[in-house]
Amino acid sequence: MSAERVPSRTIAQVVSCLDGYDPGALRVDKAGAAIRACLTPVTETETVAIRDSLGRVLAQEIVPRINVPGHDNSAMDGYAVRFSDLQSTDEKKETSLRQIGTAFAGKVFQGKVLAGECVRVMTGAVMPQGADCVVVQEVCRADGDWITVPAAQKAGQNVRAAGEDLKAGVAVLHPGQPVRAAELGLIASLGIAEVKVMRRLRVAFFSTGDELVSIGTPLAQGQVYDSNRYTLHGMLSGLGVEIIDMGVVRDEPQKLEAAFAAAAKADAIITTGGVSVGEADFVKQLMARLGEVLFWKIAMRPGRPMAFGKIGKAYLFGLPGNPVAVMVTFHQFVRNALLALAGRTDAFEIPLLQAATATAIRKVEGRTEYQRGVLFAQNGGWKVRTTGQQGSGVLRSMSEANCYIVLEHERGRVEAGEMVSVQLLDALG
Ligand code: AMP
Ligand code: MG
Repeated sequence: MSAERVPSRTIAQVVSCLDGYDPGALRVDKAGAAIRACLTPVTETETVAIRDSLGRVLAQEIVPRINVPGHDNSAMDGYAVRFSDLQSTDEKKETSLRQIGTAFAGKVFQGKVLAGECVRVMTGAVMPQGADCVVVQEVCRADGDWITVPAAQKAGQNVRAAGEDLKAGVAVLHPGQPVRAAELGLIASLGIAEVKVMRRLRVAFFSTGDELVSIGTPLAQGQVYDSNRYTLHGMLSGLGVEIIDMGVVRDEPQKLEAAFAAAAKADAIITTGGVSVGEADFVKQLMARLGEVLFWKIAMRPGRPMAFGKIGKAYLFGLPGNPVAVMVTFHQFVRNALLALAGRTDAFEIPLLQAATATAIRKVEGRTEYQRGVLFAQNGGWKVRTTGQQGSGVLRSMSEANCYIVLEHERGRVEAGEMVSVQLLDALG
């Protein structure tokens, strides 16, 4: 008997189940939840040399086969001693021990430390048999083979225990984690040469708009250079995805349709422009005809209009055209969604810090605002100010900023000195 096939739910079916879903006035949190509910991450994996796994998403558990470190070893340059030999807590009493040898990192002392003996050890040297603590060299006096050790040492001090970093058999990394510099080193410390990672997500994007021209072409009156293509390139580059830059596509149905057909071979499509009210309607009409696409008015500023859906198997993010709105909607919705699609389990965790605002900020209730801000140190604390002109076409405001000041939906005017939420741009990759 064949298994009953469960038809996959359409995007409209998924989002209609969400509380407070209103496409005409969608709260930022609801839009995020709607996108999240629709995502199915990629499942294909590939095995790569560890260096090539940097920035990728781990697709396997890493379970050490060895302890790291492999042996108890010295954390300092000094003398490995038997704690039981030392004079106890009496501050003035010293102990004299006979040095019977030296152990270096990578060069094990083969003998055994007996009562009244010690071994000179370097950082990383395997602890000589019989010794159980290390006294740093700076506090000891040497006179030939005789080493004088002061009192009041602590049991087990300056010894790194075998397996204190990584324990054989205990999983240390998990599927869905990003591989960063620390993970590369950690995997290398286990002697593992290759790891399984999720395949790279393929993301295609193009700009729409008849007024747009590419760099290299002189501007005629009313034309602007396509900058969104470059900000998108920059933002996508930080995410470890494969980028398919399709350039500018004219607002002509045939060209747009061909572009969408080509882009639908990717896992995700990002377009900019053409989703606002009052736009020549081709882009929207075409999106709606070629796939299942929802058109939202999000209660946010900048970046109100946005389209989300699927064309074929590809997720579609139709962003507004204004350069700042592109960056904000990308950072707040697309980035997380792409990371989730790429298999990251931490995709939706963007830290929000709190800082006192240096100036009053105008804000109306009923929408979430992402003002461009500068977080700066003052009197041992952190303050934030806006970058001034906040128009959604003023890309300079993003360039001058190091953070977003996130003004929540319910919040009204903010007075100087009030605490506000801040999202560091660096944290957005
Ligand atoms: P739209 O969302 O298509 O109505 O565009 C809104 C504004 O953003 C208009 O002023 C456009 O000229 C501008 N714009 C749209 N796309 C781009 C782009 N790729 N690069 C720079 N500006 C753009
Ligand atoms: Mg346009």
